[in-house]
Amino acid sequence: MSQSTFDQELERLLAENSKLKEELQEVRESEERFRQIADNVREVFFMISAETDEILYISPAYENVWGRTCESLYQDPESWLMAIHPEDSGKALATLETQFRTGDEFREDYRIVRPDDSIRWVSVRAFPVRNAEGKFNRFVGIAEDITQRKLAEQAMRKSEERFRLTFEMAPIGMAITTLDGRFKKVNQSLCEALDYTESELLKLGFADISHRDDIDFHLSLEQKLAYGEESDFQIEKRYISKHGRPVDTLLKVAVVRDGNGRALHFNNQIVDITERKKMEQQLFHDALHDSLTGLPNRVLFMNRLEQELKRVKTQSSYLFAVLFLDLDRFKLVNDSMGHLVGDKLLMEIARRLESCVRPTDTVARLGGDEFTILLENIENIDTATKIADTIYTALNVPFTLENYELVTTASIGIALSSHGYDRPEDILRDADLTMYSAKEQGKARYEVFDRSMHTRAIERLHIENDLRRGLEREEFEVYYQPIISLITNKLSGFEALARWNHPTKGFISPTNFIPISEETGLILPLGSWLLEEACRQLKTWQIKYPQDFPLKISVNLSGKQLREITLIDQVERILTKTQLKPISLKLEITESILMENIEAATKTLLALRKKGIQLSIDDFGTGYSSLSYLHRFPVDTLKIDRSFVSEIKSGQENSAIVKTIVTLAHMLNMDVIAEGIENESQLDQLKLLNCEHGQGYFFSKPLSREDAEALVAKSPQW
Ligand code: C2E
Ligand code: MG
Ligand code: MG
Repeated sequence: MSQSTFDQELERLLAENSKLKEELQEVRESEERFRQIADNVREVFFMISAETDEILYISPAYENVWGRTCESLYQDPESWLMAIHPEDSGKALATLETQFRTGDEFREDYRIVRPDDSIRWVSVRAFPVRNAEGKFNRFVGIAEDITQRKLAEQAMRKSEERFRLTFEMAPIGMAITTLDGRFKKVNQSLCEALDYTESELLKLGFADISHRDDIDFHLSLEQKLAYGEESDFQIEKRYISKHGRPVDTLLKVAVVRDGNGRALHFNNQIVDITERKKMEQQLFHDALHDSLTGLPNRVLFMNRLEQELKRVKTQSSYLFAVLFLDLDRFKLVNDSMGHLVGDKLLMEIARRLESCVRPTDTVARLGGDEFTILLENIENIDTATKIADTIYTALNVPFTLENYELVTTASIGIALSSHGYDRPEDILRDADLTMYSAKEQGKARYEVFDRSMHTRAIERLHIENDLRRGLEREEFEVYYQPIISLITNKLSGFEALARWNHPTKGFISPTNFIPISEETGLILPLGSWLLEEACRQLKTWQIKYPQDFPLKISVNLSGKQLREITLIDQVERILTKTQLKPISLKLEITESILMENIEAATKTLLALRKKGIQLSIDDFGTGYSSLSYLHRFPVDTLKIDRSFVSEIKSGQENSAIVKTIVTLAHMLNMDVIAEGIENESQLDQLKLLNCEHGQGYFFSKPLSREDAEALVAKSPQW
């Protein structure tokens, strides 16, 4: 080689060398940069020789993750394989081997066991690196500690598993629905509740199986969830089962969002509350209806009345009517034929009443034999009275119940809304009042309310107050009306009649105050006082004016007294106290009271009879008793009602009735008193008919105590 060639060569080499040097320097620098990075990150970087398995580089993070020094790895390159968890090592080694064969990227998650036996999850990735000749001679890779992530994943899997189990096994219906309302996942309970199979439901959207009326509401609420206005909602919602059966549910929907708050789907909980609903509805229905007839009850009726009154307020020309209907003598049916027949009659009547009104009207049962009818939107009073007439016609057709044929009538009170009512109870009260008035007028009729009835009712209220005070202030007196023997024409006794000497109103007739004292219960103290007073008086006269046949006293008993359980003791106590013999006392009970409660009345009468007290049926002929009952009552006397006596003229119908009553009484071993004899011809007729006793203005009006005593003293003969 020439010098110049050498120099040139040297120069070239030197130049090349410096370039090499530069390159080497560059490599060194880049290696340094890499090392700096590698030394300072949490991930473990490594480089392994593919030929010798020698560890070419391991970053310091290794010590943290593996719990071993880098030094130990450099010394024993196999030691990292030994650290792999025995359960994972097979798989890891297999992957490694494949990689060696194929030169592919290696990627594996596995567990390592650290010297202190603690376990870490690592995710290892390694790439084959080729040298300049294209020969693959080493791996570089990165290992990352993913223990935290793995633990979180495990926890997540567990919770997912729990959710899946809860979802599938839940006793309530559960579903995941998409944002557009399709079923994504459904559980068994839901399928059962709706009669669908899982695969059938998954083909449907909830709108397909919802009650039509409930879809829109549900959708609007879901929209709120989707837009993030709410996070969940709960509603009662109806579905329709596969077989068309309505299913009531309690639906709770919650929205599920991704990490960015975007709505993903809905979680639905669907509790079948059909049974509960049914029960609720039943309870609700029961609370508003009468269990026997199924008609609306008082609560519902009042409710409707209230609605009607509101209508009147907004629409001044609007008119409605309330009919208050009470059956006449229903008690009689109940007592004589039994409650079963009574109940059936009420049910039948309910149906007939319904058939008499328009579909918009309300027929209600307030209780017992009381019915009310609300006639909405009527033209005028004629509509109401026409319906009342229809009712009479309907009730006139006999009822056939358990082989009995029954005819019943009713008294009806009608009140119109035009009287300016504010409260439902006021119009009902007036209809009720009017019904009573119809009853007083002789039953089986209707009446229309007018103001005067109200005035009368107020008057009644006053009387009630005055009665209480009157009792305290001893404003009552006993009057005595003579009873004459039609055989001897002599005085045989008196009927004691109550008189009220009102401080401002003067004498008030018992026909006015007895019914009120009955209703208020004041009859009990009043009756007791009167009985004692009458007994004491008679005893005094018996002693003062002895006769061949001792005088008797008749005292009226009211229905309430008859029902009072202490009655017998009370009578006995009074007799003992006044020393009056039981045979001298005759208790009068009106026929209608007896018929109101035949069984109980008979019992009480028997007990009184046993004490030796005499009994008589007052106002006989007006109480509709049938002959079959008469012989059952243990009574001594029939008192023929005044209405028959006053009409007596020879050969006419009424004398025939009187004749029949007298004959009947005698057949049953009873004697007869004729009430209300006002003239001689009546007396003569009654004598002809063999009537034993007489009482009436013809002989004497009821007398004060003094006048009565004067009469006894005179011992007159008529
Ligand atoms: P009653 O027991 O049938 O009494 C007979 C009623 O007829 C009495 O009326 C009497 O004054 C009246 N009367 C008697 N003779 C004649 C007559 O010839 N012509 C006419 N038009 N009337 C005559 P009063 O005293 O007004 O009593 C009416 C009713 O009041 C009684 O009917 C009775 O049901 C009841 N009452 C009276 N006092 C009492 C009482 O102390 N207790 C009870 N519970 N009721 C009583
Ligand atoms: Mg009487
Ligand atoms: Mg009478």
